[in-house]
Amino acid sequence: MDCIFCKIIKGEIPSTKLYEDDEFIVIKDVNPQAPVHLLAIPKEHFASVAELDDERAVVVGKMIKKLAEIAKEKGLDDGFRIITNKGKHGCQSVAHLHLHLLGGRQLDEKMG
Ligand code: 5GP
Ligand code: ZN
Repeated sequence: MDCIFCKIIKGEIPSTKLYEDDEFIVIKDVNPQAPVHLLAIPKEHFASVAELDDERAVVVGKMIKKLAEIAKEKGLDDGFRIITNKGKHGCQSVAHLHLHLLGGRQLDEKMG
């Protein structure tokens, strides 16, 4: 499948990996929007939160938990943001679900 994140998961495209288990990986974003900008990506390919079922939702919950742990390890004591984009209006550019962790600076108050 022609999916950048599937290729990263298979090791066909290099990435800086901070965490990996059977269900997901955490990597550095190649084009960081904040001093800390990580991506949590499930190993199963599906497009977005619109494709969640109960099983996938459990994995996404684990991804959020892991990102919060990494944020603590990285000393983001003043806070951080975890987001996921969906579709054109959400500015999703890679159609394989992923969560962004952004932190290390004051983020914009406006979410849009
Ligand atoms: P989206 O816009 O879909 O929410 O986020 C996609 C993210 O993937 C972007 O922040 C972009 O910088 C990142 N990205 C795109 N291609 C690569 C890549 O090859 N490696 C890594 N590490 N990140 C990528
Ligand atoms: Zn994929």
